[in-house]
Amino acid sequence: MQPADLSAIDLVAAVRQGDLSAVQCTEAFLNRIQYCNGAINAFLNVDRAGALACAESIDVRRRSGQPLGPLAGLPVAVKDALCTADLPTTAASKMLENFRPPYDAFVVSRLRQADAVIVGKTNMDEFAMGGSNENSAFGPVHNPWDFSRAPGGSSGGSAACVAADMTPVAIGSDTGGSIRQPAGLCGITGLKPTYGRVSRRGLIAFASSLDQIGPMARSAADCALVLETIAGHDPGDSTSLTDAVPRYTSLLEQPLAGVRVGRVPEHFAAGLDPEVAKGVEEAFAVLKAAGATVHDIAMPHAKYGVATYYLVAPCEASSNLARYDGAHYGHRASAKPSSAFESPLIEMYCRSRAEGFGPEVKRRIMLGTYALSSGYYDAYYAKALKVRRLIRQDYLDAFEHVDLIGGPVSATPAFKLGEKTGDPLAMYLVDLYTVSTNLAGVGGISFPCGFTKSGLPIGFQLQAPALGEPLLLRASDRFQRLTDWHLRRPPNLTALCTPKG
Ligand code: GLN
Repeated sequence: MQPADLSAIDLVAAVRQGDLSAVQCTEAFLNRIQYCNGAINAFLNVDRAGALACAESIDVRRRSGQPLGPLAGLPVAVKDALCTADLPTTAASKMLENFRPPYDAFVVSRLRQADAVIVGKTNMDEFAMGGSNENSAFGPVHNPWDFSRAPGGSSGGSAACVAADMTPVAIGSDTGGSIRQPAGLCGITGLKPTYGRVSRRGLIAFASSLDQIGPMARSAADCALVLETIAGHDPGDSTSLTDAVPRYTSLLEQPLAGVRVGRVPEHFAAGLDPEVAKGVEEAFAVLKAAGATVHDIAMPHAKYGVATYYLVAPCEASSNLARYDGAHYGHRASAKPSSAFESPLIEMYCRSRAEGFGPEVKRRIMLGTYALSSGYYDAYYAKALKVRRLIRQDYLDAFEHVDLIGGPVSATPAFKLGEKTGDPLAMYLVDLYTVSTNLAGVGGISFPCGFTKSGLPIGFQLQAPALGEPLLLRASDRFQRLTDWHLRRPPNLTALCTPKG
């Protein structure tokens, strides 16, 4: 059996028992990256030497009988929005092209302490702003199921990496759907934990009240394994939760009998692709067969989710991205004195930002700055915060009656690269089913529940109340024990890839 055929849980067990060395395991995935990444562009940086040195040290320790961490020998890819002390961290922006962080993100330190092997940094939409990965300054990612299609975004590199078996697991971040939507479009499993469950220290900030880091893998059980390593309190992130971290992997067994799953009839309104609708309805049927009950529920303010998100997120982004001025951080423009600027300093700021940021990031900064400016603040930002509260209340009310909320992740399967790039609004509407989870601060997971006739994955989403990760993972794992959608692999991938190097 090839390492790529094993789950993350089985790989870790094989390394621990000595059936597979960490070096063998790492080499197998590095070779796969070398083979496939040229066609997919999932990685911005592959650290072959660092990964092999890390794997070697794990093997040395194992042979000498020293204790190993819970992820020993597991190759992991990390979204390039998380700081890594030894590797460039660009957030897929020209602004940070030459940035080498002085420290590891909390999640990266946790992975290293657990003896995971970090193989590289994955492509993404610039500063995590986007839903197709086409906003990367370093080229789009291609969906492994159809290279002419987008993998989703913004964690499209992480999703495509796992879908193409280039690593068994990857780390993503989700501000309005960026773990769940690409997971859905690439046929893998992605978990956005409750806000604060995983520390954001060292995550390049997009919208701080919404950002959350989470695992992406081929199954819910593998997500559980990674989550129990990366979750937990961090005094370095004041929003990180102090609640004890359960052993998620040991909570998967319990059956689903009596679990109440909500279904929102409005999710099935016009605009939802009929094949996606069918796949999602079939997923409800599987949950029922597993013993859950399904109940129609109302989420009356969900229709305001996209409008609210596209005020809150850009407002926070315009503030967070103010630090990239060419002096404190990021690309610095060379001086070209011109009378158009009031001072050389202002000119340096303006040119640095004009050259460093891509068009979507500039659009968000302008939208956010406008909505926060004097005279507009109450009409836009303050109002968005009020609607956000109503959306959160919808969730609290719904969770009085149901334990989980199910539904689609995206209205359509993976769309063509270039299809929406000329129409920002069409791109924002891609986030219809995912943004409310972040506005409410709860957790959500997505996993494949079928395929279209043309062979594209269809995603199903489950959401739970705050800290409901054990049930989210248990229900998804149960679904995956009863179905095999998550085991499917993109056909002919090896034949279609042209190996590099
Ligand atoms: N697609 C959404 C956006 O562009 C979500 C991004 C994210 O979750 N990082 O803002």
